Amino acid sequence: MSTTPLLEARGLTKEFPLGGGLLAKSKSLVRAVSDVSFRLEAGTTLALVGESGCGKTTLARMAALLTPASGGSVLYRGEEVTGGSRSALKSFRRHMGLVFQDPYASLNPRMTAARTIAEPMLIHGAGNRLERRYRVQSLLEHVGLGPRDGERYPHTFSGGQRQRIALARALALEPELVIADEPLSALDVSIQSQMLNLMRDLQDEMGLAFLFISHDLAVVESFAHHVAVLYLGRIVESADTTTLFRTPAHPYTRALMKAVPRIGEGRRHGGATAAPGEPPSPVAPPPGCAFHPRCPKAQALCRDQRPQLENIGDGGNDDAHICACHFPETGSVRP
Ligand code: SF4
Repeated sequence: MSTTPLLEARGLTKEFPLGGGLLAKSKSLVRAVSDVSFRLEAGTTLALVGESGCGKTTLARMAALLTPASGGSVLYRGEEVTGGSRSALKSFRRHMGLVFQDPYASLNPRMTAARTIAEPMLIHGAGNRLERRYRVQSLLEHVGLGPRDGERYPHTFSGGQRQRIALARALALEPELVIADEPLSALDVSIQSQMLNLMRDLQDEMGLAFLFISHDLAVVESFAHHVAVLYLGRIVESADTTTLFRTPAHPYTRALMKAVPRIGEGRRHGGATAAPGEPPSPVAPPPGCAFHPRCPKAQALCRDQRPQLENIGDGGNDDAHICACHFPETGSVRP
């Protein structure tokens, strides 16, 4: 039985004008994201993965309504919020927290940690002064910072502490959803695991849902419940995390899996970069399957026809394993 997801994207598309200058009569368009749909259930994590430039950040920004979509819609608890009223937008933003990649750039250097965390409450008029102060102290404690840290400025914190402040700010309005764009990639490996544990604990404690953007599949495997793999602005495979990492069906996903370190191998830097060759430019995407110039399994059909996403899993439910490939791989890649 299908339930209403917390967040749903339907056919999201983003086109950017390409060059041409201000005086050009017609500009060609480049598609950064094409017809992407996904569902995020309450209290779970959906990871968007893929190489740099695959469109995952643009997709996340459209889902957060920070970047207007060229097509498609975003639904929150079953209600469309794209193109909605100002009050609908404000209500959606009140239930959503944002965490960005660079914890330093995302914090105002002239604001103390306490003021930074309190800012969303001030914007939305949440609580009185005393309630806000209490909430800030509680959030500082939740993210592992001391009560006196609230009076410090961003430059006096380490990168990991700054990201904790950003997370506390994202939680200020008790959101149901956090959209986190590469929240760990600017941190040292040891700090990454601390932040990951913190996000996991907060999810358990507060029932948070995460839309989690990452190029690091090792992190994704340990944190996400469901994964969507993007290639050149399209989802090419999606499944629950266990299924995706055990039986990846798309040759691109299989190539990405090779970059995931095994226990005892240590960490490989660079993350999802195992596919041969370079990603093609979205300005001139290859015909047929966009992955065919890099795919070891490519055949004539692949160069002629773009494969559609199809359910290749056992069930026809929301946890379907979907893949866009004419010749999907079968079998486990795990012992
Ligand atoms: Fe490779 Fe063809 Fe599948 Fe594309 S459709 S991933 S080229 S086998």
